[in-house]
Amino acid sequence: MLDARGLGIGAAAEQFIEQIVTQSSNAKAARVQISDALAAESETAVELELTNPPRHISARFFPLRAPRGNLGTGVLLRDVTRERQADAMKSQLLSTVSHELRTPLASIKGFATTLLRQDVKWDEATQRDFLRIIEEETDRLTEIIDNLLDMSQIEAGVLRIAKEPTQLRSIIREVVDEMRMRTEAHWFVVDLPADLPRIIADPRRIRQVLHNLIENAIKYTEGGQITVACEIEPAQVVVSVSDQGAGIASEYSDKIFERFFQMDGKSTRRVGGAGLGLSISRGIIEAHGGRIWVESIVGQGSIFRFALPIAPNETS
Ligand code: ADP
Repeated sequence: MLDARGLGIGAAAEQFIEQIVTQSSNAKAARVQISDALAAESETAVELELTNPPRHISARFFPLRAPRGNLGTGVLLRDVTRERQADAMKSQLLSTVSHELRTPLASIKGFATTLLRQDVKWDEATQRDFLRIIEEETDRLTEIIDNLLDMSQIEAGVLRIAKEPTQLRSIIREVVDEMRMRTEAHWFVVDLPADLPRIIADPRRIRQVLHNLIENAIKYTEGGQITVACEIEPAQVVVSVSDQGAGIASEYSDKIFERFFQMDGKSTRRVGGAGLGLSISRGIIEAHGGRIWVESIVGQGSIFRFALPIAPNETS
């Protein structure tokens, strides 16, 4: 029995197997595998991939033995879709993580080895340059590991959020000032209403979300204006980060918030990133009871927005 959605229950064995075969991604191969397994004298396992809805089924065929000979073949079916999805995620995680860690590690190793060479004397300025690169790359490694830990806490539903009445103005100013130093091709406009109410939030986590959004606005645009603005609504404040980049096609506007999803592998590989920033941001905002989304016009730019509840005694 698989479930009540039209598969299995109450069906005759042949009819049931036929249903599985026709739903398989490769019906011909499935038919051969199943008839081989039915003819086999010993226990045989077959794994089938069904389409519509996509499912992985593990089928274990075993002879039903009685004292006076075989009674037939029994089959034990198990839906292993979740296990296969978890396997696929683990391999994706391993390949992304190893790729992402390798780049900064290679750089740290390279510059450390260069500095240690006995046959070359580096002047002090060059030594400091090399050490600065080592420091930056170490920060990058820490950031990747922190992101992975955050992601696993979000997935397990145990992300710690220390909510308190929080002043958005100072957080926005701090993050913008920090990010301004990282780019010469972009300029920043901060547009905040004078009477911005406090929100209920974990300031460290909101800083992290803003940091991710502004970092993306820098990474995925050649240059131009980046605007950080706030709008006050009856029970919430909506923060937006807008850029003047290539934008995001509407079919990707949900997908980019999924873990490891990157729109363009090639350009992302150039700018660095593991496809975790937006999914972590979504996890953080949702853990605050808020919402995050993107609006974009291809060729003109993107606006990422997130909404957070206003602190109770701040509403007028
Ligand atoms: P990462 O930056 O590590 O790839 P994110 O989760 O932060 O991961 O972003 C996911 C993808 O969304 C990026 O790879 C990129 O393709 C797309 N993206 C994010 N922000 C922007 C933006 N401001 N403009 C265009 N594309 C963006």
